[in-house]
Amino acid sequence: MNKILLATGNPHKTEELRRILADLPVELVDLSSLPSPIPEPVEDGETFLDNAFIKSRYYCRKTGLPAFADDSGLEVDALNGEPGVHSARYAGGDTPHSVKMARVLELLQGVPRDKRTARFRCVAAATFPDGREFYGEGAMDGIIHEKPEGNKGFGYDPILYLPDVQKTLAQISAREKDARSHRGQAFRNLVSQVFPGAAATRQS
Ligand code: IMP
Repeated sequence: MNKILLATGNPHKTEELRRILADLPVELVDLSSLPSPIPEPVEDGETFLDNAFIKSRYYCRKTGLPAFADDSGLEVDALNGEPGVHSARYAGGDTPHSVKMARVLELLQGVPRDKRTARFRCVAAATFPDGREFYGEGAMDGIIHEKPEGNKGFGYDPILYLPDVQKTLAQISAREKDARSHRGQAFRNLVSQVFPGAAATRQS
């Protein structure tokens, strides 16, 4: 069976991608299962698209495998789109997401609910050893909640409130998140280009 490398060092992303891509007729290989560890590339792009391709190209070159990567983050309108591409490094690279979320909430103190609009964005990129490349995009809108709520998911999930279900992203099931998430959309879009006719896991 053909292999595809899930080119991310973030175990939460790997878990989501394994679910989202579960129906593909390929073997999904994690970075952690490679015979020797590969140092991470420097993500110095200015956009999600730049960084997604930095990762897919780098890991494809290092392993000789087709590589799927994503770059993603939280854009808060009242903070001019921050943390955006800096989401993983926001408030210090090694700080837990509890600290990163506290920083966002602190900066939004006093900002009314209708001005707390935000979204997760994701660009999914694929690089093949023969040089073919593809990408897909996804976005999921919400409101920055007053305080973190819920313990599912990862990262900033506890502060993105989804008005239609009246829950944060950390209060809905993994299946519901995959169906509507920025990552689910981006990878389903990517798959429709890479494997026309095949489908990533369906939305419901
Ligand atoms: P990247 O690994 O450089 O793409 O950084 C992604 C960062 O964006 C993560 O470390 C989180 O801080 C944030 N992020 C991306 N996707 C999600 C998500 O689905 N939920 C919560 N936080 C996310």
